[in-house]
Amino acid sequence: MRETIQTLGRLNTVILITAISVFASVFITFMAFYLRQNGGITHIAIFLASFIPLTVSPLVSWHLMGLLMKIDKLEKEMRKLASLDPLTELFNRRAFFNDANLSIRRAEQERRVVSVIALDLDRFKVINDRYGHSAGDLVLRHFAASIKANCRATDLIGRLGGEEFALLLPNTSAAAAYALAQRLHLTLRQSVIAHEHSKIGYTVSVGVVSLVPRETDTIETLLNKADRSLYLAKETGRNCTVVFDG
Ligand code: GH3
Ligand code: MG
Ligand code: MG
Repeated sequence: MRETIQTLGRLNTVILITAISVFASVFITFMAFYLRQNGGITHIAIFLASFIPLTVSPLVSWHLMGLLMKIDKLEKEMRKLASLDPLTELFNRRAFFNDANLSIRRAEQERRVVSVIALDLDRFKVINDRYGHSAGDLVLRHFAASIKANCRATDLIGRLGGEEFALLLPNTSAAAAYALAQRLHLTLRQSVIAHEHSKIGYTVSVGVVSLVPRETDTIETLLNKADRSLYLAKETGRNCTVVFDG
């Protein structure tokens, strides 16, 4: 039904339903006359058989189409809300893992390289403690916007929780993923976030893994590798990117 409404539009669907109901009504009346009276259908019977559906059907179906369209819109909105993190409007963990795994399977079939990037804001707890939780939220939103500004439309961006984010870059080599991370470091270096009377700066540590996926690779196994590099980035003094090598 939804597909019909989408293809034909509301008005045409109503016209179609009305035509079908008039045809069905006349047909049933005709059959009833034929079987029960063994004679021809009267003019008044044809008139009533077509007049009633012709008036009732458009009213009812127009209203029903409206309801169906509203339900469809609400369902789409709900699906979108269920897959987005409300603070940053990036994919939440579940949606990111789901789409990332689909992308990894596609890359495996096409034998193309993918990159997965794990990102964790540095000493974020200190920002919350020093400037307050709302300042922390502002930083998270700024960071999400900075990632979006440095990514392509085909890249997947997710907030995995707290101040931890992940990217899946289809068809992207380690060098290109590293370059993206460097652009992100530069964006943050050039940004100051005004909050009340303070100006807040922040940094991020990044771990990158790039490979042509095999059957056993999933977003979980790739993120695990990226996380190991991220851990090294934290160990090396934070505010830097480490690429996973074996
Ligand atoms: P590190 O450099 O080692 O990553 O240190 P860190 O302080 O960033 O890491 P830690 O895990 O100690 O702290 C993360 C903080 O993130 C603690 C938590 O209160 C804060 N946080 C998690 N979710 C949110 C959020 O939605 N909003 C804000 N403002 N803070 C959050
Ligand atoms: Mg963390
Ligand atoms: Mg952190």
